[in-house]
Amino acid sequence: MLITSEGLVLRQRKIANNRRMIVIFTRQYGKISAGTSLTEKSRSRAALALRPFTFSEYELFKGREAYSINSASVKKSYFSVGEDLDRFMVASAFINFLDRVLQEEEPMPGLFDLSLEFMDSVARASAGTVRTLLYAFVVKSFSMLGVMPEITCCVNCGRELESFGHDAQGNAPGKLKLFSVSSGGVICEDCANREKSDGDALIYRPTFDIIDTLRFFMTRPLSTFEKVNLKKETADSFGQIIAEYTSRYLGADILSELL
Ligand SMILES: [Zn+2]
Repeated sequence: MLITSEGLVLRQRKIANNRRMIVIFTRQYGKISAGTSLTEKSRSRAALALRPFTFSEYELFKGREAYSINSASVKKSYFSVGEDLDRFMVASAFINFLDRVLQEEEPMPGLFDLSLEFMDSVARASAGTVRTLLYAFVVKSFSMLGVMPEITCCVNCGRELESFGHDAQGNAPGKLKLFSVSSGGVICEDCANREKSDGDALIYRPTFDIIDTLRFFMTRPLSTFEKVNLKKETADSFGQIIAEYTSRYLGADILSELL
């Protein structure tokens, strides 16, 4: 059966008989692996669509056991991200993140569209803000991947934010300052003490407001972060928390490499 889909290349490797296996995040079919005898170096236009950091349209033959690439055409290439080290590191971490968290043949069109937005933003942003952009992308992906941290009440006892001094909009922060990676959200002092005595707790007390920061990342459009640069200390500390969180709930230990 012939199918067509837009997609982003995640990685490729050589297989037998001079063929390559290309792993593509497609809009319609999710992550798929497709064989091809094309190589990047061949002179056809389709060969360009095998490169990383390329958004292309693929025509695929779906066999009983595998996909193979029938033809491909580039819709947009992001080669410029390869010309700057910061951009390249961040875009590579992004691609690895997608590769780890996506299940084969499980369509995630919302995450696909967010991924294209991310590549557009990385190409436009100033080099100094690209790490913040990646954090925004990862935080936005949590709800799509079903691992959204609890930030509206204590993750353990369910006590509402307002009872810690927040108003209904979540303003006047300052009373609920702890984030428990092990429990998956913000946590009150009492529950944190109980959790710590159980042994295996991973709890952070950041110097910035973790609820405001997570909410900021979740609600603003991704393009906002082309111009937002967190203080280095905040970015490092926030990065460490979401690196641990991502590693624990998504099995993707890729953000710690950027710290
Ligand atoms: Zn509690």
